[in-house]
Amino acid sequence: MRSHYCGGINESHIDQEVTLCGWVHRRRDHGGVIFLDLRDRDGISQVVVDPDTPESFALAEKVRSEFVLKVTGRVRRRPAGTENSNMPTGQVELLGKEVTILNAAATPPFPLDEHVDVGEDVRLRYRFLDLRRPEMLNRLRFRSRVTSYIRNYLDSKGFMDVETPILTRATPEGARDYLVPSRTHEGSFFALPQSPQLFKQLLMVSGVDRYYQIAKCFRDEDLRADRQPEFTQVDVEASFVNEEDLMNLNEGMIRALFKDVMDVELPAFPRMPYAEAMERFGSDKPDLRIPLELQDVGDLVAGVDFKVFAGPANDPKGRVAALRVPKGGELSRKQIDEYTRYVGIYGAKGLAYIKVNNLAKGAEGLQSPIVKFLGDDVAMAVIERTAAEDGDIVFFGADKATVVNEALGALRVRIGHDLNMLTSEWAPLWVVDFPMFEELPDGGLTAIHHPFTAPSCSPEELASNPATALSRAYDMVLNGTELGGGSIRIHSEQMQQEVFRILGIDEEESRAKFGFLLDALKYGCPPHGGLALGLDRLIMLLTGAGSIRDVIAFPKTQSATCLMTQAPGEVEEKQLRELNIRLRRKPAKEADSLATQTEEQ
Ligand code: ASP
Repeated sequence: MRSHYCGGINESHIDQEVTLCGWVHRRRDHGGVIFLDLRDRDGISQVVVDPDTPESFALAEKVRSEFVLKVTGRVRRRPAGTENSNMPTGQVELLGKEVTILNAAATPPFPLDEHVDVGEDVRLRYRFLDLRRPEMLNRLRFRSRVTSYIRNYLDSKGFMDVETPILTRATPEGARDYLVPSRTHEGSFFALPQSPQLFKQLLMVSGVDRYYQIAKCFRDEDLRADRQPEFTQVDVEASFVNEEDLMNLNEGMIRALFKDVMDVELPAFPRMPYAEAMERFGSDKPDLRIPLELQDVGDLVAGVDFKVFAGPANDPKGRVAALRVPKGGELSRKQIDEYTRYVGIYGAKGLAYIKVNNLAKGAEGLQSPIVKFLGDDVAMAVIERTAAEDGDIVFFGADKATVVNEALGALRVRIGHDLNMLTSEWAPLWVVDFPMFEELPDGGLTAIHHPFTAPSCSPEELASNPATALSRAYDMVLNGTELGGGSIRIHSEQMQQEVFRILGIDEEESRAKFGFLLDALKYGCPPHGGLALGLDRLIMLLTGAGSIRDVIAFPKTQSATCLMTQAPGEVEEKQLRELNIRLRRKPAKEADSLATQTEEQ
């Protein structure tokens, strides 16, 4: 239908006849001449329709925003003084000779201008219109460019794109499964994959050697701000490799991608053991752009009478840490109160601090509600440990180590941003040497990565000391966001059984749930490992989008629903009967009408 995209005409087309198709972005009536901004995915062109072509002029008078048009005409230079250098097509315009209305449009529920602030609910409900906005369309285009770059990169390294099933058995990654009832096998359910983990491992057993997939993963979690129940991973697995090979491959890919799509030269990725990341930054995904660090001071305060500090300092699971903020002495009481409220979100019961006014005066020069509880000597020793100087503030966290790490870790990032302390634009790293397991509140153990991750010790050592064993896992972190993670996998049946046993999965259960994997490990499974990158988050970081939903064409809300299709929705009784499912509770609508009926009787 068209000869060019609206965004594609320029001075080289002057005097040519072209045909454009698109949506009316704006219509202006300039006494006798009508200007139409015609928009498609490539951009906007100005179309002029004048009364010399009466039929087209009459049509142009009728069109409204978002009408769909086809316009044929001659490209000409815009009259001097009316050029728009902000638009790629701004030097030219199309003198519309023949205007066809391909479709009318109702008034859109919100204007499609880029800068209009529209509630997200409305945008999600009318996503098909929201995506017409150039900002959104550009993100989709950018995403497509990134996936195509990644495919080419992995193809060129000999990786094979293999699809794995969506209807499958549970593939544990630590979340709840989405279940799909089977009609043909009464009472049985498929699970949607939390990741292709087991299938990609089986592909290694099959000899595929290098696999990748841009894969949908499904996790039924209580959604936090930037989670989606279905999301996309760049999933990679390779055989006869070690951690170095995999980290180098993926680091190489990300660095090449940044260079290609952003012209950004990422620095080399340092490697940091998990224990160090927790100790220095209170986080296993530290934002290294922020030059603030946590410091342990538990040994200095273990003997004081002040229970708030001495308690956690003497508790093996406790931690007392300090966070020095250079020049933080200027923080107002109000700001400190706000930070106190902020760390409360992470479970901290308060936020102790010392302002360093004048070190030359010793403890006299410290301003703080806690110095009198610590005693001058201890307070000074603590300040010395943090190397704080006049004008600084030192915050403290004292609680269970998990609470202190989360609270001070988050405070560190918040203050870093609030006080504009970022030292670079991009700070990537690998976090390595994760523990194999973490303790559950009931004292049991759960896998930190997933149960197929290889430990860095023998099965015997693992059995005797599971809580302290380290794994061969690695996470890629960028600017405080976990971009992805992976590990070398277990390739021996004995080791896999041992891990299952530690996780409280006995032999019978492991056979029932993972018999196919255990079998596969028996038949010559090569050493292998891999990684998965969160594509949505990667795109979010690259585009600077404010939310993960802005880089997904049709995302779910934070309560895991689709406002456009109204999914999840109720289904007909007949469908439930076919599936042999009876609801324990009537759906809300029926229950309501039943209630009214009963009231009426
Ligand atoms: N399947 C893992 C995940 O989704 C990634 C991996 O280990 O490759 O986190």
